[in-house]
Amino acid sequence: MGVASGSLTSLREGNRKRVIDALRERGTASRADLARITGLSRSTVSTIVAGLLDSGLISERDGKRDGKAGAQESHAGRPPVMVSLNSSAGLVIGIDFGHRHLRVAVSDLAHQVLAETWRELDVDHSADRGLAAASDFVDHVLAEADADRSRVIGVGMGLPAPIDRATGTVLASAILPGWVGVDAAAEAGRRLGLPVEVENDANLGALAESVWGAGQGRTEVAYIKVATGIGAGLISRGHLNHGIDGTAGEIGHTVLVEGGPVCRCGNRGCLETLASTRAIAELLSASRGEEVTTRSLLELCAAGDPAAQRLIGDAGRAIGIAVANLCNLLNPQCVIVGGDLSAAGDLLLEPIRDSVARNAIPSAVDRLEIVPGLLGDRAELLGALALVMHESDRFFASPLPLGEAA
Ligand SMILES: [Zn+2]
Repeated sequence: MGVASGSLTSLREGNRKRVIDALRERGTASRADLARITGLSRSTVSTIVAGLLDSGLISERDGKRDGKAGAQESHAGRPPVMVSLNSSAGLVIGIDFGHRHLRVAVSDLAHQVLAETWRELDVDHSADRGLAAASDFVDHVLAEADADRSRVIGVGMGLPAPIDRATGTVLASAILPGWVGVDAAAEAGRRLGLPVEVENDANLGALAESVWGAGQGRTEVAYIKVATGIGAGLISRGHLNHGIDGTAGEIGHTVLVEGGPVCRCGNRGCLETLASTRAIAELLSASRGEEVTTRSLLELCAAGDPAAQRLIGDAGRAIGIAVANLCNLLNPQCVIVGGDLSAAGDLLLEPIRDSVARNAIPSAVDRLEIVPGLLGDRAELLGALALVMHESDRFFASPLPLGEAA
């Protein structure tokens, strides 16, 4: 791409990049979808798509939509031809570190997961051990997908801890003490030899549910993860909202009872001290005289244990107060409830809905839907993939073979 041909070339390159960006965000789209998303004319899009097809960067797939690309245009008769980036355009790795597990997946830019694996990991694993295991898993999924590391354009990595946006380091966290102070992105990048972006787990859940799950097609979404801790991921105008330092969404530390139980953050009466699985399990352990885990809590609840059901209902009402306040401030279209405790279903969701209806101003929740997440315990892993494809321009600045202007 020479400088001589000047602005026309850069205009073409820019338009081409807009089409590629739309495809990496959507996975699969028709030419009409692409025209609508990019604001380019149908004929410009057709020309660009023809060039991308010739270069082998994208391919056509016949007929059926895969449900990921919206359904705005449904002409009677034959379905539109869909196009997507193919694997020569690059691959993406997702890594999800949980409190007790590690998951790794590789996907292409058409949003297809090619290989995926997971294992249990010690609760308080060190960053060093965790990253060594992740590196082994990356080799494993690439081998399973018969893919070469050189085709990977970026790695998204999730951690259940707040991440400092400026430095990339893991901030103080009782959930993952072995990682505190570690520059997780740089360290993982060094071990893997690949560019890595790190994000906290609730933000990844929000991203995954809004790209593939219960928040599809919505631009204003709040995702509430209720597990050992409680956190929120906020999608605003279709993208993650981090706040100035990366702390946006710490709904678990909303104070509900001034002078209440002491929280791991050092404050008292935070939502987390009342409604996290840890808090509920502790109450139930004391009353039963035996250790109750998240799993046994959910089993007791499903078996109709009145104390377990009561505590989950109380947790839902407490969460609902915090969500009502969040709705008054942000007015989302959709609140998605995920995390381990969401497996309790309506026993958790109904009290949340009741409490939100009682405590929010009506105009903030008139059109609000409160729904369970659809992606279960894969949400963070899929979010790590979406982080690279959907949120991070840095991975697409140069490695993508843009070739010559169409
Ligand atoms: Zn707190």
